[in-house]
Amino acid sequence: MFDNKDTATTPISSLGEFGLIDHLTKHFSIQHKTTIKGIGDDAAVIVAGKNKQLVVTTDMLVEGVHFDLSYMPLKHLGYKAVMVNLSDVFAMNATAKQITVSVAVSNRFPVEAMEELYAGIQAAAEIYKVDVIGGDTTSSTSGLIISITAIGEAASDKITYRSGAKENDLLVVTGDLGAAYLGLQVLERERQVFKVNPNAQPDLENYTYLIERQLKPEARKDIPVLLDELGVQPTSMIDVSDGLSSEIIHICKSSNVGCNLYEDKIPLDPQVISTCEEFNMDSTTIALSGGEDYELLFTVATEDFAKIQANPHLSVIGHMTKASEGMHLITRANTKIELIARGWNALDTEESTA
Ligand code: ADP
Ligand code: MG
Repeated sequence: MFDNKDTATTPISSLGEFGLIDHLTKHFSIQHKTTIKGIGDDAAVIVAGKNKQLVVTTDMLVEGVHFDLSYMPLKHLGYKAVMVNLSDVFAMNATAKQITVSVAVSNRFPVEAMEELYAGIQAAAEIYKVDVIGGDTTSSTSGLIISITAIGEAASDKITYRSGAKENDLLVVTGDLGAAYLGLQVLERERQVFKVNPNAQPDLENYTYLIERQLKPEARKDIPVLLDELGVQPTSMIDVSDGLSSEIIHICKSSNVGCNLYEDKIPLDPQVISTCEEFNMDSTTIALSGGEDYELLFTVATEDFAKIQANPHLSVIGHMTKASEGMHLITRANTKIELIARGWNALDTEESTA
């Protein structure tokens, strides 16, 4: 046990999640030629043949930090835990093939609860055509922890990093943003109502899409396939797990470019717009900082504009600039605001997540 009585200590929150990872791993060096990419992208990349590479990624979900079982059914949790990982595989423009599943579980959970969790994992594995090839099971003193590792593969020239964006490239996002975060707000509100009045019948009809996006996200397996069909090789790519703003900043920093993001281009579902009005929230802020969308954010060369322009899955939301121009949101009122990462950060505050 680390005893901090006699030594000066630094709170982890002073570094933040990414600062901590960087601090702990900055002296690690790559020793094998087969390690193409180590720490620092959505997945690591490993040589697997003459023209083939594997991608490997791990994500952990912790009860009370990433999920609350009072509104997250265990089956959905199992499904979502797989999605969170597959999303990082697709963000490398790769195809997901295998997963391992590790769980730490307290004696509060009966076998039936674990069966539910695994029914969700199995459903995800079947639908996304991945094999569950192993894992680990252990006990926990409090609550449930799930850690999944996903393995994918792609032709070497298809793998897409966060670092390839160039000045003038177009910034593109799939689907729509902000719904999963609002779904969580709706579920949280219902939980509070239920606490006060257990007989209250929730009317969730106006929020079906939001709740589905929170409880049953789908990773964008279709996008690497679509890009291939369209003949588009993205120059950089990342998945949107922490909020658009944070992901744009990752691409800009990794690629050493700046960015102009246009507020009026950010794709929003009508339920996001109506619920933001009802909750008195700003829909742009929700899209920028909400998180858990599991959409893909990527850049393409301007020459590829015609190929993606009319596609209903894809929205061009901005373009990349010189790094010296900075990272900005151009508002509907045509003012320029600096983009800052307000994405959820598990290590910042107790109730947030990463
Ligand atoms: P993502 O949000 O795409 O899952 P993360 O922000 O979790 O990515 O991780 C960023 C990078 O840091 C990844 O390359 C990941 O493998 C690496 N990483 C995260 N935590 C650790 C750790 N404890 N030790 C070593 N590498 C880590
Ligand atoms: Mg990611």
